[in-house]
Amino acid sequence: MADYVRPKKHLGQHFLTDKSIAKDIVEAINPASKNLLEIGAGTGVLTQYILKNESLNFKIIEIDSESVSYLKQHYPKLTQQIIEADFLRFSLDDLFDENFSLIGNFPYNISNQILFKVYDYRQKIDEVVGMFQKEVAERIAAKPGSKTYGILSVLLQGYYDIEYLFTVSETVFNPPPKVKSGVIRLKRNQIEKLDCDEVLFKTLVKTAFNQRRKTLGNALKSMGAKQWPAEYDLLLSKRAEQLSVKDFVVLTNLASETISPH
Ligand code: SAH
Repeated sequence: MADYVRPKKHLGQHFLTDKSIAKDIVEAINPASKNLLEIGAGTGVLTQYILKNESLNFKIIEIDSESVSYLKQHYPKLTQQIIEADFLRFSLDDLFDENFSLIGNFPYNISNQILFKVYDYRQKIDEVVGMFQKEVAERIAAKPGSKTYGILSVLLQGYYDIEYLFTVSETVFNPPPKVKSGVIRLKRNQIEKLDCDEVLFKTLVKTAFNQRRKTLGNALKSMGAKQWPAEYDLLLSKRAEQLSVKDFVVLTNLASETISPH
């Protein structure tokens, strides 16, 4: 019986050793949720608390075969619900019949990719509670004007209300990571669809932040915009990190009109 999983660096394995923190993370999920997916359960420190809610339809995606056999041995009832797969490559379309929530002490080496996938599945994912490296957690929750505000902050804040819940010290992990961690919660808001072309919105947000020192006017020009009405001059003299989701929506509609399709 495997009683130990050797932490593997390339899988971002840092096992949480503090049970009260594990409990706090699990309790941050809306208790009314029906379907829950855990990413990267490892040795099940969160899983043991998740299972206390017996009416939950619960699944795990874990990439590490050693962790998967550990979980199957320690939680035999879960055997059918554990999927050995790479979350980034796994289609979430048919995982549950209805919308679901996501929980995890996420592998830090793929945090951004996980969050982009949440954005892609925003119509199916109602809530996310999880631990990221502190800097990523802060960035996702950051408001316009702050230095850490970035692409994922805008994309996710368009569809989720985001709260930074608490900071976790590096000392409660085996092995300890180099940085502190932060737990955040994302709750789906009421916005079904942004009031603009959402594909162009994403492109524009990315373009604007990839040239974050330029004004939006210059960033727009690089996308092929010609001229725009003078009333937009003030907005376009700002830089990406100063703009709210609403500002980006306005800008996207402006771009739809001023960028000629080729
Ligand atoms: N939840 C556990 C483990 C956290 S470490 C705890 O808190 O102790 C991150 C976990 O994510 C590891 O178990 C690792 O194997 C898993 N993991 C890493 N990359 C993954 C991927 N692409 N898909 C699914 N799981 C992954």
